[in-house]
Amino acid sequence: MTDFTIAKDAEGIATITWDCPGKSMNVMTGEALEELSACIDDALADEAVKGIVITSAKADFAGGMDLNVLAEMKEQAGDNPAQGLFDGIMQMHGLLRKIELAGMDPKTKKGGKPVAAALPGTAVGIGLELPLSTHRVFAADNPKAKIGLPEIMVGIFPGAGGTTRLVRKLGAMAASPYLLEGKLLEPKKAKSAGLIDEVVDDPVAAARDWVLNATDADLVKPWDAKGYKMPGGAPYNPAGFPTFVGASAMVNGKTKGAFPAAKALLSAVYEGALVPFDTALKIEARWFTNVLMNPSSGAMIRSLFLNKEALEKGANRPEAPDQRVKKLGVLGAGMMGAGIALVSAQAGIEVVLIDAKQEAADKGKAYTESYLDKGIKRGKVTEDKKQQMLGLITPTTDYALLDGCDLIIEAVFEDMGVKAEVTKKALAAVGPDCIYASNTSTLPITELAKASDNPEQFIGIHFFSPVEKMLLVEIIKGAKTGDRATAKALDYVRQIRKTPIVVNDARFFYCNRCIIPYINEGMRMVKEGVAPALIDNAARMLGFPVGPLQLVDETSIDLGAKIARATKSAMGDAYPDGEVDEIIFFMEGEGRLGRKSKAGFFDYDENGKRQGYWAGLEATYPRLDTQPDLIEVQHRLMFAQVLEAVRALEENVLMDIREGDVGAILAWGFAPWSGGPFSWLDILGAEYAAERCDQLQAAYGNRFACPGLLREMADKGQSFYGRFGPQAKAA
Ligand code: NAD
Repeated sequence: MTDFTIAKDAEGIATITWDCPGKSMNVMTGEALEELSACIDDALADEAVKGIVITSAKADFAGGMDLNVLAEMKEQAGDNPAQGLFDGIMQMHGLLRKIELAGMDPKTKKGGKPVAAALPGTAVGIGLELPLSTHRVFAADNPKAKIGLPEIMVGIFPGAGGTTRLVRKLGAMAASPYLLEGKLLEPKKAKSAGLIDEVVDDPVAAARDWVLNATDADLVKPWDAKGYKMPGGAPYNPAGFPTFVGASAMVNGKTKGAFPAAKALLSAVYEGALVPFDTALKIEARWFTNVLMNPSSGAMIRSLFLNKEALEKGANRPEAPDQRVKKLGVLGAGMMGAGIALVSAQAGIEVVLIDAKQEAADKGKAYTESYLDKGIKRGKVTEDKKQQMLGLITPTTDYALLDGCDLIIEAVFEDMGVKAEVTKKALAAVGPDCIYASNTSTLPITELAKASDNPEQFIGIHFFSPVEKMLLVEIIKGAKTGDRATAKALDYVRQIRKTPIVVNDARFFYCNRCIIPYINEGMRMVKEGVAPALIDNAARMLGFPVGPLQLVDETSIDLGAKIARATKSAMGDAYPDGEVDEIIFFMEGEGRLGRKSKAGFFDYDENGKRQGYWAGLEATYPRLDTQPDLIEVQHRLMFAQVLEAVRALEENVLMDIREGDVGAILAWGFAPWSGGPFSWLDILGAEYAAERCDQLQAAYGNRFACPGLLREMADKGQSFYGRFGPQAKAA
C-alpha cells in the first residue's frame, strides 16, 4: 500500500488515509483506486469495524484524477479503446457505489457501516466525487480550500458519478454552475450550496463522532430511498421540464455547440434523470467514454492542463539561479503600465511607476486603487490588503527612485525614439545587473536593445490587455538576449501567476502574427461580399470568443490602419495585405473606428452597446447572391491562423509547439476545444490539411500555400506532437 492506508482503533473506527508518496497533492491513479477498494473491502468485512472515515494526510484532500490515467486506460484497451474506457469507468463507479451502499441489506437498507469523509482542504474532481459517495462530508474551515468539479474546464465532465450524484442531490438547475461552469467554492460556501455537509475546526474528529452515532437511516441516500423525487423536478415533470429546455438553450448559446463535453454532460444529466440511479451511472459512463474518445478531450487536457502546467513550472527555463523580482520599475503609467503595476503589487513586488508627468503616474496608481475598491465591494479584498498593496506602488517622475530595481518593464508610447530615450535614462539609474524588458507589441526587440550597453540583459515581456485579466505573457528573446534575462522574465511571470511562452524575435512575435491574419481574413470576406454575420458567427461556432469583425471594432480600426501603414513601409513590395488595407482605410475614412467611436462594423448606441451590423457596408461591398458554406468560411478563418503558426515554427520564432498551442488559446481564445493550432492540425491529419491548403490556395490566393514543413509531414505521415512533442524531443 502506498497511496491509501487503513488504521483501525479500539472504538471500531477504520480510518482510511490518502497520502500519495512524493507529491504535495493527492491525485487519483489506477493503482490508488485498487488500494482504496482493498481498504474498503477490509473495513466492510471486519466485524470489529463499526464505521469508516476517509481523510488525507496532506494539507488538502485531493486535486483530482491523474489525467494520464484516462489516456492509459484507452491505450491499454488495444483494438477496442471505447470498451476499455467504459469498463475502467464502470469499475470506478462500482467502487464508489460500494462505499455508498456500505454493505447494507439491499432490501431493508439496514446494517450498513457509516462512511464519512473528512476534508482538510481542497477537494476537486474525483477529490469531491469520492466524498459525494460517502454518507456525510466534513470540511475544515479553511477559506483557502477549493471545493468543486472543474473537469469541464479541460474538456471533460465529472465521470466518476459526480454528475449523477450532484444532480440527484441538488437538482439539475442548482447543480449546473458546478457541472457546466466548473465553479469552485470555499468550504462555507460549498456547504451553503449543498456540495458538502459540515464545516468544522477538526473534520476528522467530527467525522468520527458522526460515524459513531449514525443510524441506519442516516446511511440511505435520498435516491436509494423509496419515493425519491429529484429536486426541481425530473425532465418529464412539469416543474423540471423548463429547467432542461432552458439548460439546453443556455449551453448551446454559450458554447455554440463547439464543446463536446458540455453537450455530452447535458445528455448524461437528461437521460440519467429518466432512469433509476444505477442505470444513470451507466449512462454517465457511456457519455464520459464518448467524450474521452473524441480527440478534442485529449487535446484540451494536453494543452490546458498538462502543457500549461509544464510551461508554468518552467519547462523552457534556462539554467540560472533564482531570479525572482524584488523591486520592479515600470516606465509609462498608461493602460498597460498601470495594469503591470497592479499585477506586480498583487504578487507582493515593490513597484516604482514612472511617467512623464506626476498626474499621469498618479493616475496609473489610481487604477490599482479603483480595482481594489471594486474587490472590497464584492467582499473579495480587505481594507488592509488594499493599503498593503497601494503601499507597494510609488508613482513618480524621478528616475533616481529606480535605484535598486532588479527588473524594469517599459510600457511607454510605441515609438522607437521615445523608447530609446527612456531606456537610457532608466539604465543610468539602476545597477549593472538589472534586467530590462520592453512591453512593445510591434517593435523588434533586437533593435530596441541597441539603446542598452548590455543587450544580453534586454528582453521583451509582452502582456495582453487588460493585464489583470489576460492569463498569457509572451516573452521575446532578442538576437543577443542571454539566459539570465530569460530566466528573470520567466521567474517574474511565475510570481504574477500567469502562463509564459518564450519566442524568438520576429515581426509581431507569435501571438499578434497569428491574430492579424484571422482579422484580415474576416475583412477580406466582407470585401468579397460575404455576410458579416456569417463571418463572425462562423468563428463563434468554432469556439472563438469573438468573431474577427467584432474583434476589429474592439481593438479599433485606427490601430489596424496604423499597423498596416507601418508594416507596408517596412516590407515594401513584399507586403501581402493591400486588399485588406482598402477596407481598413475605407472604414477609417468614414470615421467608423470601432466601439470607441460608437461606429465600426457594428452600429452602437450611446452607451457603446452593439446594435447590429452597419447597413452602410453593403453599399460599398455588395453581398454575394450565393453565400459560401459555413465550413468554407470556418476553414478560411482557421487556416489563416494555423498556417501562420506553422510558419512561425518553421522560422524558429516558435521553439516549442506546446507554447504555440497554449499561447493561442490563452492569448486570443483560439478554438479551445481543439487544443490549439498544432493540435487542430493533428486532429485533421497533415495529409488532409495539406490537401485543404492546395484547395484554399487555388480558390483564394497564395497566403494559403502549404508550408514546406506541413507538406513534408503529409508525405511522411507525421503529426506535430509525434514529431515535435516533448517525448519526441527527449528521444
Ligand atoms: P498608453 O498610451 O496608454 O500609455 C503610455 C504611457 O507612457 C502614457 O501614460 C504616457 O504618458 C507615458 N509616456 C510616454 N512617453 C513617456 C516618457 N518619455 N517618459 C515616461 N512616460 C512616458 O499606451 P499603452 O496602451 O499602455 O501601451 C504602452 C506600450 O505597451 C506600447 O509599447 C504598446 O505597444 C504596448 N502594448 C499595448 C497593448 C494594448 O493593448 N494597449 C498590448 C500589448 C502591448
